[in-house]
This record gives sequence, structure tokens and C-alpha cells, in this order.
Amino acid sequence: MTARVLIVDDFRPNLKMLEVRLLAEYFEVVSASSGAEALTLCRDGKCDIVLLDVMMPDLNGFDVCRRLKADPKTMHLPVLIVTALDEPSDRLCGLEAGADDFLIKPVDEIALIARVRSLTRLKIALDELRARAISYAGLGLADPIAAPIRQEDPLGRILLVEDRPASAERIVSDLGDRHEVSIEPRPSEALFRAAEALPDLIILSLDLENFDALRLCSQLRSLERTRAMPVLALADRDDRSRILRGLDLGVNDYVLRPVDRNELIARVRTQLRRKRYVDALRDNEQNAIELAAIDALTGLANRRFFEKQLFETLDRAAHGGRALSLMMIDIDHFKQVNDRYGHDAGDHVLKSLAHRIRGILRRSDPVCRYGGEEFLILLPDTPLAVAERVAERMRATIESTPFRLKADGAQAIPVTISIGLSDRGDDANAEALLRRTDRALYASKTAGRNRVTVSTA
Ligand SMILES: [Mg+2]
Repeated sequence: MTARVLIVDDFRPNLKMLEVRLLAEYFEVVSASSGAEALTLCRDGKCDIVLLDVMMPDLNGFDVCRRLKADPKTMHLPVLIVTALDEPSDRLCGLEAGADDFLIKPVDEIALIARVRSLTRLKIALDELRARAISYAGLGLADPIAAPIRQEDPLGRILLVEDRPASAERIVSDLGDRHEVSIEPRPSEALFRAAEALPDLIILSLDLENFDALRLCSQLRSLERTRAMPVLALADRDDRSRILRGLDLGVNDYVLRPVDRNELIARVRTQLRRKRYVDALRDNEQNAIELAAIDALTGLANRRFFEKQLFETLDRAAHGGRALSLMMIDIDHFKQVNDRYGHDAGDHVLKSLAHRIRGILRRSDPVCRYGGEEFLILLPDTPLAVAERVAERMRATIESTPFRLKADGAQAIPVTISIGLSDRGDDANAEALLRRTDRALYASKTAGRNRVTVSTA
């Protein structure tokens, strides 16, 4: 796991020092000595993570951060603010500017590597999800994480695993007015509660009495339902080795005791934001998958998806020596429907026809809109003679009930369909099957339409 880290500092010795430490951990390092230079490098895609000094002439670190987070090309880059001023208000400023994390000068080596590693992990996950979302939806899609970044900060449901009542109370009072916090003092119950309630964030004390909190971390990460759940650890200042171990086990971030209220609020907000990006990407991906498989107008499978089903079903039928029929339907004189009643009416007919076809079939029979007004239906385990009866019923149903444009039935459009039928034959060849079915449909058309033809080939 490595990344290209951009270090921005106006003081050369600082650049050098950070560079040496990051190189020792096998990160690639790019450096810039001004805010303007940093913005250019980021826009050109020269880095994965940004380490940003606050005090710089011209553009200060907060301004650079704000600009990075406002630009769709750079808003997804994790930003770590490096500040010499150990002031909580200053840290808050950085997080308000959209920074993902901050470090205090002089930079502590362990904290530096831990934060950079954790942000690298986040960047890799986001990049992967984004690439998938974009490849599914095709090029030209808006950046799938841009929209959630611009939204208001989310309220979160937080599970606090803490067995010290005083500490738990203070955290609830720090977060309770913005978030819904529930306390779980029994670590043995925490995993079940997390898996059951699916909170947006877990805040976990690393120093629980008689229980190894790191073990809970690893359990959370190995359970499917809780794997992606963000975990924020509470730790004592001198518990550094456990913090590092926790970060390795997948803890997303940590806050040192005594807990600074502003820092806690800011880190909770950052974790909730990240979770929202990831959730948004997942939804986006789900939509993209559906878009790739489904015809938007009719809700039936699209051609690409159907062809995949056809190959698989045909293969199975051929191997198992089972019957398989294919039906191709075409609406007669559909162009006249569009010309006479308009395209909206045409769409309405397509939609309603799809619905009626579905109603006549078994739920498991694959149906697709194959082209403009052409539909394909796969009938597994159905011999040709049975398929012919189904087709005839379909033809008769469509003919006998005109399509009504309005609920009052003011305008009814008479529609008929032509159907071609074929079975899988002896060879498991999808192209040949499609060709035979198409020829049967053509025969129905030339014989006067509104009829069913069974392939004799
Ligand atoms: Mg400086």
C-alpha cells in the first residue's frame, strides 16, 4: 500500500524532514513551496494525498484546502493540515476548511505515518469505488462523490463502547445535540449491537476494563455486516503502540484523552462524511448496474443482459437435454401508432404491452425489449407445442383489448402483434436460434401480421 504524497511548506528544512520520513516508509513524495504551486500539482493529478502547512505567505493552508475542496477535480484528495500552533481552535479551522486530518509540529513520526497510511487506505477505497461507478455508467457521468460532498453535514447514529461512566457521559454531552449516541458499557455485547443496529459510527475506548478492545476491532472487521463501519478510537496519550496496532486492524481514526470537544466533533464529522461518500458510491453503483441491465422505458431486461441470459440458459438446456423455446414479438404497424397518436402514446403502448406480456408468463421467464418495438421471451423447459399455445394466448389478448391512453378510456388504440417461435434444436447455438426465430417472425409479417408462426427449420 503506497501513495504519492504532496508536501507543501514554505520552509525548505521542513520539506526535507517530512520527505525523508515518508520515503523511509516507501511513499512517493512530491513537494511544493507555495500554495499556488500545490494547487497546480493537485489539479494536474500529480498526487494522492496532500500534507499542507498552514503558515505560508500568499495563500495560507486553510485557503489552499478550501480551494481544493471546492474544485470537482481535486475535492476527493485527502488533505492533512500541518500546524505549528497547538491550538484546538486552529485545528478546528482546518477541519472547517474541509481538511480530513491534521498534524501538530514538531511532527511526531508515528502520528505522521499512521495518518498518512489511514488516508491512503481511504483514498484507495474511494478510487476503486469511483472507478467502478464510472465504468458502469459509462463516460460522461458526473463525479459520483461530488454531490454527497456538497451536502450538509449528516447527523449520525453513534454506538459508544465505553465502560467508564464519567467519560461516556461527557462524550454524550459533547455529541448529543447533533447526533444520536447510544452507550454500550459491555464490550461483549458491542459486536451484536453493532451488527444489529448498524450505527453510522462506532466510538471505541481502547482501554476497557478486562477486555481487549483491539479484539473487538478485528471482530468488527471480519463480520460482513460491520466490515465497512467506521471506528473512532479513544486512547490514552501513552498508549501509542495500541493506537498503531488499532490503525493496522482497521480503526479509522483516534482521539487522545483528555478528549478535546472540538476535536471530537470534527473527527466524528469527518468519519460520517466519509461513510456518506462510500454509501453514495454504493447506491450509485447499484443504480449503474440496474441501468446496464434494464430497459428504462419498460423495466424489462435490455438486449445486452438478455443475450447473456440466453447463452447461459441455452447452455444449461443443451447439457441437461431439456426443452427451450424462444419467442420473438413485434408490434404491427407501430410507426402508425406513433404517427397518429404521438410518441408519448407510443411509449405508453410499449410500457403497457410489456406489462401484459409479463402478466401472461411465469415470473422466471426472461423477457427483454430487444429493439424499438420488438420483444424477446425465453421459455425454459417449454416444448414448442406449449410455447405455441402461450404465444397464441398472448396474440389474442393483445388484439382483444385496445390500449387506453386515459383512465376514462376516451381514446383506445387497437394494437396487434406478430410472433415468431423456435426451439433450441440440436445445436446449442444462440445465433442460429435467434435467426430461426427471426425468420418465423418474418413469416408472420409477410403472411398478413397478427399471427403466430412456428419455425419449421
Ligand atoms: Mg510555514
